[in-house]
Amino acid sequence: MSQTNDQLFERAKKVIPGGVNSPVRAFGSVGGRPYFADRAEGPYLWDVEGKRYIDFVQSYGPGIGGHAHPKIIEAVREAALAGTTYGAPTEREILIAEQIVDRVPGVEMVRLTSSGTEAAMSAVRLARGATGRDKVLKFAGHYHGHSDALLAAGGSGVANQGLSGCDGVTAGAVGDTIVAPWNVMPEITDDIAVVCVEALPANMGLVPPTEGFLQDLRAACDKAGVMLLFDEVITGFRLARGGATEFFGVQPDVWCFGKVIGGGLPVGAFAASAEIMGHLAPLGGVYQAGTLSGNPLATAAGLATLELLDAGAYEQLTATATRLADGMAEAFDSAGLTAIVPRVGSLVGIFFTDTQPTNFDEAQASAENGVYPKLFHELLDRGVAWAPGAYEVLFPSLAHTDDIIDQTIEAVGQAAAAVVATQ
Ligand SMILES: *Cc1c(COP(=O)(O)O)cnc(C)c1O
Repeated sequence: MSQTNDQLFERAKKVIPGGVNSPVRAFGSVGGRPYFADRAEGPYLWDVEGKRYIDFVQSYGPGIGGHAHPKIIEAVREAALAGTTYGAPTEREILIAEQIVDRVPGVEMVRLTSSGTEAAMSAVRLARGATGRDKVLKFAGHYHGHSDALLAAGGSGVANQGLSGCDGVTAGAVGDTIVAPWNVMPEITDDIAVVCVEALPANMGLVPPTEGFLQDLRAACDKAGVMLLFDEVITGFRLARGGATEFFGVQPDVWCFGKVIGGGLPVGAFAASAEIMGHLAPLGGVYQAGTLSGNPLATAAGLATLELLDAGAYEQLTATATRLADGMAEAFDSAGLTAIVPRVGSLVGIFFTDTQPTNFDEAQASAENGVYPKLFHELLDRGVAWAPGAYEVLFPSLAHTDDIIDQTIEAVGQAAAAVVATQ
């Protein structure tokens, strides 16, 4: 062993703020210090001390095929040998756009970016440019990346930091952002350009829309001539072949994608009808660009990932998630630990409360009641890695076999009993 987790964390903290390049990784909200990844394969991740974890983080979503899937690795290797970036268009950019158009009902054109943050930021600029309106409405607890205007009341890492807002974001930058509580129909006025929504919110734990909410939101947007944006950075190509759009049967005007379509490389995308996308440079006046946008390695990894995701894959993912959620709920119950394990498609959440939260305030009350950090560490000790933050969800992959799920459930039962023993 070259260096231990402790030694690496001490070294990292000297040259990287908090020792990490994305705040949640620092373990701030669960305590302790992070494990440093050495390698990963399928459902497993090994840290630098050789300890193996069944990994449900999967890089917060991209790992839908499991870590280091041979087909994705081969696609990236082959692409790299032909050059890592050109600054000229490539055929694979067309192929991935064609795939997205084919899969997601309503999408006609796609622009690739290098992150979900860029995708959401650019999609909002596009909506403002296309409508000539300024205001943006978002829901509390929904995360749309870390661009200034969308950071207000973001879930996920923002919530973990205990920040209501964010230093360095000016009043001007969020002056046109309206934040509304989730699952309550907001007033949709005709000065709003776009309503941003995680159609299935998965950054404040898993808090599904109430029955008919997305349909009502669609109707209210239509009435006021407001664009509806589905941020499908997590749900895209995961919840169903056509993402949340297909799953819920509601079509937005603008979409954001990321995570899964990058196959583990830095990618985002935004999409809309040809008419709306026509406002984008070089066709229209809304500027948007990127040195590495449509990167050859990222498109190769993305295409290889989408190739894994046929109808059978979604059936498998849903069955895996169902086995996990049901088994966990049973394990918590047996251990006498109050918990709710929501599941939608292949996404699984966890709340240590007796009722399913329906909005950010309720999710927050559950996330901050102190149970999650205890269970997190009991599980980590038993070789199961959940995200180091109570606002994240579990990402079972195609590599999580029934056997792996059953081992996980057993560990959850033991961990829950250990937590109960300390209560
Ligand atoms: C992860 C995420 C983003 C941001 O994507 P990055 O690639 O981290 O910039 C945006 N929206 C949602 C819903 C996300 O989960």
